[in-house]
Amino acid sequence: MTEVTETLELKLVEPNAHKHQKLCETKTAYQQALEAAFDAGCTTQSAANDVVVNYDLSGYAKNALKKYVPQLCGGSYHAKELHNDHPVRFTNEGVRLDHKPQNAIEWYIKIPHHDDYNLWLPAQPNPEQREWLEALHGGAAKMGECRLFDRDGEWYLHVVATRDVKERPSSASETPIGVDIGEASLLTVCHRNERGSPTTPTLWNDEGKQVRQLRETYFTATRRLQKRGSERIAESYGDSLWRQIDDILHTVTSEVVAYADQFENPVLVLEDLTHIRESMDYGAFMNRRLHGWGFAKMHAQLRYKATEKGIRVETVNPAYTSKSCHCCGERGTRPDQATFKCTNSECWVRKYQADVNAALNIADRYLSGESHHREHTGDNDSAEDGGRLTGPQDSQADAEAQQLTLGTYAS
Ligand SMILES: [Zn+2]
Repeated sequence: MTEVTETLELKLVEPNAHKHQKLCETKTAYQQALEAAFDAGCTTQSAANDVVVNYDLSGYAKNALKKYVPQLCGGSYHAKELHNDHPVRFTNEGVRLDHKPQNAIEWYIKIPHHDDYNLWLPAQPNPEQREWLEALHGGAAKMGECRLFDRDGEWYLHVVATRDVKERPSSASETPIGVDIGEASLLTVCHRNERGSPTTPTLWNDEGKQVRQLRETYFTATRRLQKRGSERIAESYGDSLWRQIDDILHTVTSEVVAYADQFENPVLVLEDLTHIRESMDYGAFMNRRLHGWGFAKMHAQLRYKATEKGIRVETVNPAYTSKSCHCCGERGTRPDQATFKCTNSECWVRKYQADVNAALNIADRYLSGESHHREHTGDNDSAEDGGRLTGPQDSQADAEAQQLTLGTYAS
């Protein structure tokens, strides 16, 4: 096991006047306490404690100061003077992360103000660090010190996070495992055996159904509650439904990683989300509201869980993975959502389970070397096609399903 550390950046989303005021108060009190303890030349935690105890700050900020000031005063930093834009430091116990995928801004962060008073603020993470947030939220990563600072009037929180990852000895032959994320089957995995034959396809159909039902319950029930003016009940009911969805996603992503873990040198191959995001021409609303959140969450969970086990994750261009035949490569049709039909008369494939066909194409795309990095796939055609997983343009069946979904969920 190796421990890896990363500093996660979260931008606090437009705190209202009240919260902004509270953040400013914290910053000012912290700055004053820091200066006082620095001027007093505190070289021990107890000396620093005697100074900072008098300031109107949360215990988490005081504890961080007690550790930090002795380092400045003759400790590891040997600072001559203080510059005046130190971030406010908090020990990890004071900061909490919450995820509400049903909201426009999905992530929330709790920042201590003073002892009995905390601020919950919506926060926008760096999208590249989503996997870390899922790991923190899922308990697989640990939170370290946090630092609050403002930059040109915007507030940011930096969170130091650590987690254990496994190094796996790499052997010559890889087993690429294609992972298809869909609506009917939440996830589908398949790979080829040493003779190249598709083997052990696994679908999570029931979980797909459960998630759809929970989501539907969420939208109908919360709307009804909101109409009755029961905003608070709607919110807590919604939170519990989304926790159930999250539990299902965690179960499924853990099972996918366990599937991969049986093989000697597994590589989980996913579709590149960037393409999917960019190809969504009906916007962030649909993407997030209906399915986008699920992709992002499952990808992030798969990534951190795979890394924990030393399993590599690669991404490929998603264009046509559901429309091409895994056997002959011809563009086929989708008579219904579960079925792929090869139209090449020379090909032995007639009808094939559509999600398994897609998973095989995804695995094969990695093998063919047409993998991941965005700069290599800049000339792809996915702007028209790559949206199949979230978009309605994949097939008539999908389009109809999407219309139904739209009718049910759009508000
Ligand atoms: Zn074919």
